[in-house]
Amino acid sequence: MIHWNTELADEIGLPTAWQDPENRLQWLSGNALPPGSQPYAMCYGGHQFGQWAGQLGDGRVINLGDVSARDGQNWTLQLKGAGPTAYSRFADGRAVLRSSVREYLCSEAMACLGIPTTRALSLVLTGDSVVRDVFYDGNPAPEQGAIVCRAAPSFLRFGHFELAASLGDSAMLKQLIHYALSNTSTGHVPFTPDSDLDVSAVLAWFETLCEQTLKLAVDWARVGFVHGVLNTDNMSAMGLTIDYGPYGWLDAYDPSWTPNTTDAGQRRYRFENQGRIVQWNLYQLANALAVVIPDHEALQSIVESLSSRYESLYQQMMCHKLGLEEFEPRHQGIIKMLENLLQSQETDMTIFFDRLKQFSVNGPQENEGTADSGSQAVTELQHCVNDALYDGKVLDDNLPLYRQFALEYRSVLKGTSQERRHQLMSSSNPAFILRNYLVQQAIESLDGGDQQPFDELFQALRSPYRDQGTLSAKRPEWARNHPGCTALSCSS
Ligand code: AMP
Ligand code: MG
Ligand code: MG
Repeated sequence: MIHWNTELADEIGLPTAWQDPENRLQWLSGNALPPGSQPYAMCYGGHQFGQWAGQLGDGRVINLGDVSARDGQNWTLQLKGAGPTAYSRFADGRAVLRSSVREYLCSEAMACLGIPTTRALSLVLTGDSVVRDVFYDGNPAPEQGAIVCRAAPSFLRFGHFELAASLGDSAMLKQLIHYALSNTSTGHVPFTPDSDLDVSAVLAWFETLCEQTLKLAVDWARVGFVHGVLNTDNMSAMGLTIDYGPYGWLDAYDPSWTPNTTDAGQRRYRFENQGRIVQWNLYQLANALAVVIPDHEALQSIVESLSSRYESLYQQMMCHKLGLEEFEPRHQGIIKMLENLLQSQETDMTIFFDRLKQFSVNGPQENEGTADSGSQAVTELQHCVNDALYDGKVLDDNLPLYRQFALEYRSVLKGTSQERRHQLMSSSNPAFILRNYLVQQAIESLDGGDQQPFDELFQALRSPYRDQGTLSAKRPEWARNHPGCTALSCSS
């Protein structure tokens, strides 16, 4: 047992038998079944990189069953990496320590940022060695096998609905929809196979899921997270972040960055494209629902509103990052200016926003229109955000951009209280993110038998809106091209 997530265990309220560490080890390593468990793997399909891929399913996930928390919340527990299932196809059903640590830490980091996600309850070593795409002296280097126990209210995916629709199995599709409704609305919705669907309830559910999914993508943009494989089989029907594979976090702000080496050419799942991609995915879900929802016009009007809705959620989020209460059309300019500024030279996104807090709302009056207009503002701005610049200073060519931004920022901030601005900025701009190189360091240390860096990260990620000292610093130069610190393959 490498880690047991006590806080999550308490939240779920597991039966007392789970307090015994020996029981836990047996159950979470898949060596014995917890009392009452009837394990199963789920069947789903999906669109991978824009193409219908047919049936996929839980290839390396075994569900143990469901637990009811004290507050009535349902939790499904599942083991990832415990061996082959009926849906493993050509693969082995295993997971390596490297990818398991990445999933474990990142899903908890996401939860602590307040972003909807599947959770991680435990991380165990299997004692088996597993071969992936890691080589030593030209030979495949076996890695340690590991299992993460994941928890979520439900692991239902867009791909579940798509598979039923593709098979033309209306009865199964209806049953899935009933299941989704009973998991998300308050009461249980009674189901009989040939009962008619309550179309308005289904449309309301779909509309809610659209809103949750758009908000999720906006949250990823807020914290600089790139999922890496936004295929429809990796889209949660509960609006959760699910499947932590070749994900990554932006150090320098680069909208075209993708952490997935499999996607290096097309860059379909790059940072700036995630909003459009989740919309495309919601279209695929709507197509599946259309098989049993006669009111196609209603579905159509929901999906047609997605792009403008995403845009306004994004703008509102950017305003909060800047400390502005409510988006107004006149703020469009400053948001664009900011995006340009962040790309003008290598700029750490997280540190930039964190330090921008210190820029004063009410600078001294400057002689507008004169040659030195804005020189005081630009000096102050540089001073505030200097830590975020990988070059160590604002490059001369970019000074006009900084000057323009500094003046415009002061101008739009006029009338905003300093206190409220700080509140908004502190709650939308994390001071700690799970940088790729930090996780890589924790993995390399664990591999060498030292768990301390892992434990320190697990502590730090619990309070991401507070400064975490050296763990909050920008990526060190050695990590720029270090294996595992930048892009990763899908295959781990
Ligand atoms: P992913 O790209 O992680 O979403 O995986 C796509 C599909 O491949 C899913 O159906 C997975 O269950 C399956 N898969 C990934 N890795 C393995 C593995 N090691 N063994 C069996 N199935 C796998
Ligand atoms: Mg997946
Ligand atoms: Mg995966």
